Amino acid sequence: MASVTAMPATPQPRANVGQIPAYVPGKPPTPRPGLTTFKLSSNENPYPPLPGVLTAATRAAEQMNRYPDMGNSALYDALAARLGVPVEDLAAATGSVALIYQLLGAFCDPGDEVVYAWRSFEAYPIAAAVAGATSVRVPVLADGRHDLPAMAAAVTDRTKVVLVCTPNNPTGPAVTQAELDAFIAAVPSHVVVVVDEAYLEFVRMDDPVDGLATYRDHHNVVLTRTFSKAYGLAGFRVGYAVAQAPLAAALRAVSLPFGVSSVAQAAAVASLEAEDALLERVEALVAERARVVAGLREAGWNVPEPQGNFVWFELGDRTLDFAAAADELGIVVRPFAGEGARVSIGEVQANDRLLELARSFEAR
Ligand SMILES: *Cc1c(COP(=O)(O)O)cnc(C)c1O
Repeated sequence: MASVTAMPATPQPRANVGQIPAYVPGKPPTPRPGLTTFKLSSNENPYPPLPGVLTAATRAAEQMNRYPDMGNSALYDALAARLGVPVEDLAAATGSVALIYQLLGAFCDPGDEVVYAWRSFEAYPIAAAVAGATSVRVPVLADGRHDLPAMAAAVTDRTKVVLVCTPNNPTGPAVTQAELDAFIAAVPSHVVVVVDEAYLEFVRMDDPVDGLATYRDHHNVVLTRTFSKAYGLAGFRVGYAVAQAPLAAALRAVSLPFGVSSVAQAAAVASLEAEDALLERVEALVAERARVVAGLREAGWNVPEPQGNFVWFELGDRTLDFAAAADELGIVVRPFAGEGARVSIGEVQANDRLLELARSFEAR
């Protein structure tokens, strides 16, 4: 019989719970009297909801006393039609972050390894720690790109999942299809390769990744996508994964019952119907991104090639000074102390402020 005296006096979470890093959300701007302030710290879409999307969400809210459709059936049907994939290959959840949690939970036993680039999306180390898995971080190259050969070489017998963030948050560059193909060929076929395509709609490059063709060719590839960025539904929490049926079934099996709210499902379906109008907004943001990059280069900044709706400034120990100077100008950025700052592409006026900051900060 276990000794009673050996028991702790209070309930104890699993040992690794205390080691879960905190997620640092992008801050709201400091209010400045007489100055419009802008939040450029969370890669949100600066545009307000389209009227049709708002109407669909409002209509769904009128039924808030009812549980949502647990099978997400209207959303799955709309996605299947839009993407040309079977419904069995889809899994929806409360944002693509939730899908990454579910995936690591479903595939990792304690001590199993998850390989990802670093710096990359800050939810990865949290999701790995929640699953009790061990993070294996492979530094990004000097130009902010994934070092895919080094990531493939970091795979061991304990590796269950590798995460490829493309475009990479926060550094910006995306991988090419040729790079991804070579990577998948180098990784054992029992290892899950996640292609995190949160910023897919913003990619404008030669040889871009064709996620759908890639998942069709590989039983171990999972695409994660979101309505939070290009589609402007960050507050509603809805994302989805595309993978061949056995993988998608595992993701659905570990999902929270009734996770995606009825309002989020309705808004996501309406967004797919309004895709043309939404993608016009994406085009405007891509044009602003090009304008910002040109202005930054003119001011002497050499930023990594941004393929998402954000730009990375490698600032080292000047990072917090840069963030403070931004705040004074009424824009809030996302600093990573000692490394750099990520700044979202926002309203034209907000982007103008960023260029103003870049010019004055470099001059100091
Ligand atoms: C924003 C983001 C997501 C999406 O998060 P949601 O949970 O869908 O809001 C996923 N991956 C990366 C790299 C991101 O930056």
